[in-house]
Amino acid sequence: MAKVLIIGGGLGGLFCGAILAKEGLKVTVLEKNAAIGGGLQSFTRFGEVFDTGMHVVGGLQEGGNIRRLLGYLGIWDKVHIQAVPADCADLLYFAEDRHYYQIASGKEQFVASLAQEFPSERDNLVRYVDAMYRLVEEMDLFHLRSSTRDIFSHSEEFSMAADAFIAKYISDERLRSIVAYVNPLYGGRAGTTPAYIHATISVLHINGLCRFAGGSQLFAETLGDFIKEHGGEVLASHEVQHIHTEGRNITGVTTQDSKCFTADYYISDIHPCSLINLFDDPKALPKAYKTRLEDIPNTYSAFLIYLKLKPESFPYLSHTGYYMQSYEGIWNIAEANQPCPRGFLYMTPPEIQQGKYARKMIIAAPMNWQDVPPRGKEYANWKQERADLLLTRMEEMYPDFREYVDGINTASPLTIRDYYGTKHGAMFGYAKDCKNLVLSQVPVATKIPNLLLTGQCVNLHGFCGVPLTAINTCEAILGRNHIISKL
Ligand SMILES: Cc1cc2nc3c(=O)[nH]c(=O)nc-3n(C[C@H](O)[C@H](O)[C@H](O)COP(=O)(O)OP(=O)(O)OC[C@H]3O[C@@H](n4cnc5c(N)ncnc54)[C@H](O)[C@@H]3O)c2cc1C
Repeated sequence: MAKVLIIGGGLGGLFCGAILAKEGLKVTVLEKNAAIGGGLQSFTRFGEVFDTGMHVVGGLQEGGNIRRLLGYLGIWDKVHIQAVPADCADLLYFAEDRHYYQIASGKEQFVASLAQEFPSERDNLVRYVDAMYRLVEEMDLFHLRSSTRDIFSHSEEFSMAADAFIAKYISDERLRSIVAYVNPLYGGRAGTTPAYIHATISVLHINGLCRFAGGSQLFAETLGDFIKEHGGEVLASHEVQHIHTEGRNITGVTTQDSKCFTADYYISDIHPCSLINLFDDPKALPKAYKTRLEDIPNTYSAFLIYLKLKPESFPYLSHTGYYMQSYEGIWNIAEANQPCPRGFLYMTPPEIQQGKYARKMIIAAPMNWQDVPPRGKEYANWKQERADLLLTRMEEMYPDFREYVDGINTASPLTIRDYYGTKHGAMFGYAKDCKNLVLSQVPVATKIPNLLLTGQCVNLHGFCGVPLTAINTCEAILGRNHIISKL
């Protein structure tokens, strides 16, 4: 039985572990933090469970790709989720003209919800939505189809800039900004982010979103238990600090407490820039490969506040709310030296038995890594000021919002960097660049034959993208289409 060692027990590492354990391989997952999960991890503060990096998730609707993957693993019935209602999946507020837009999910309903405000754009909206579905249709993996396509055989629109793609179909300037509102869920940049990224995230929204009820940590534990039930090990508090090589192969890894682990295959679920620093032999990986991994820009980071709300004071919101300062600012929502926050999203995470009132809220405001002061007194003040600004913005939408708040906890890009070990606290790993798609795409295979990559820096990010990449990673060991043919 081949042995596989996975560095990092985040979403990608756990999915790879679960798939390979089900296929009969001997899996060991090593996670640096005290709890497994990475972006799935939740923490408890003020007696409430808060999720760190998984607020809305796609691909779980009837027939959805991730639902099918969970069906193959046989764990769909163990997943605690709540579907976001279709009539108001997202609520947008633009401070510039104090206008709200209610966005529905479902193809026709999505168009209708926007055409209500922009009747003359109805036909454009239909063409725009169809164009996005066409782009997603080009992605075989998204549809769990065996692939023959490479990066060069896509349509021209696939790799045009997302903002240019939107402008090609939508005439009204304001509507162009409105349909780009999902930007905080992929870290988009004008002239850079490829249209297929925007289309994938938008299509996931239009197909219908879900939220984890009771915390996404439960899902991480379900995957961890699955690996153990299938003969594997999942070890938290095991930070890999050294990777040993001989010739062109990895021979083992050592953790912070000097424990050695060996395997036939090694899978890295950590940021590639962290991975390359773990090699004992600095020449184990070619210099050009390391430089390339270091030079790829990362997506923006975020400042987060976690609020405990006073009992029965604020209603439970089944949709995600988006605050945008201005229409024009949507593509530079995290840009440095701008009045901040330029935009953010807020949500009230559901309990397993959710009542009429919310017990907590999470607010996530995109921001750039270089705007964070170093840790110290200035940092503490800065965090407080920023949290205060966000509450002031909330009061533009919900007057007296501060009165509902019973406790505030904050997290900054430094928290995200240290917690996940991701470069510059990037929310979604590497940023894809439509001008250089080949260089910003990192393949699963590496220059070391028994080392494979997985996770959000490879391919797509998020709850849908990372498990799909895990299929690719596992098939690099099991054989092409081995898993796809079973889904
Ligand atoms: C604030 C925030 C909000 C987000 N919201 C959403 C959302 O609503 N919906 C969505 O789909 N996506 C969201 N995302 C993105 C999503 O969380 C990520 O795409 C996903 O979790 C990435 O999974 P991964 O396996 O690549 O990395 P991770 O989940 O980060 O896993 C990497 C793991 O490796 C561990 N590790 C690092 N170094 C070592 C080492 N040396 N040894 C052992 N272990 C190590 C880390 O501790 C971590 O557990 C959000 C991200 C952030 C930051």
